Amino acid sequence: MRRKLAAGNWKMNGTQASLAMLEKLASDHRDSPCDIAVCVPSYLLIPAAATTATGPVRIGAQDCHAAPKGAYTGDIAAGMIADAAASYVIVGHSERRDAYGETDALVRAKAEAAQAAQLTAIVCIGESLAQREAGEALPIIGSQLAGSVPDDSTGDNLVVAYEPIWAIGTGKIPTLEQIAEVHSALREALVARFGAAGNDIRLLYGGSVKPENAADIFATSDVDGALVGGASLKAEDFSPIITALA
Ligand code: PEP
Repeated sequence: MRRKLAAGNWKMNGTQASLAMLEKLASDHRDSPCDIAVCVPSYLLIPAAATTATGPVRIGAQDCHAAPKGAYTGDIAAGMIADAAASYVIVGHSERRDAYGETDALVRAKAEAAQAAQLTAIVCIGESLAQREAGEALPIIGSQLAGSVPDDSTGDNLVVAYEPIWAIGTGKIPTLEQIAEVHSALREALVARFGAAGNDIRLLYGGSVKPENAADIFATSDVDGALVGGASLKAEDFSPIITALA
């Protein structure tokens, strides 16, 4: 049985003062049957993990380098994220694929580094609007999945987030049928590659998830939770999304 996961992505937002929100989430969802994660900017990893050490909220980072250490100014290694007591790292977010030219091969190398450091990699994939309109969404997503996911993936060290690029931060979401179609194709591809273990890997939907649309999205087959950007910045928005998942 896959545990549901609500994962927030603060992107380049938040300060130390924002960590109070994590305490609020922890007390609101103390007995939640779902996993809860908040992926914070790197400089907040240590205080965020310290704030949430004993509660239900786990901490994640938003990217890692593929190498374990070295001369990579400005980057952070997966082992450092684990050393900060974080549990997750997002890799291959479309904002990084777009702004930094990250390829499937690089995303896969980063996910491998994350898994080697005992982190759970949240691998993001998703089509552009032009690809969706050209009827290419499924092949594009299938090829990103095949190229970005490491061979040693399991339900413990991998989460896949389907994030249509055109739905991120836009207030637009695919139809529930489109979400179901993609998630079912992803599930099939994971089972084809990993056998029955492919059924243990969680599939998140991401892109303009809000308190108002969360319940419908979570009722869609093969949706095991959400990766949430804007609505994860305030407890008053993220908390009802977590509740809708439970
Ligand atoms: C994201 O950036 O991963 C995301 C899903 O953003 P938003 O929820 O703001 O669309």
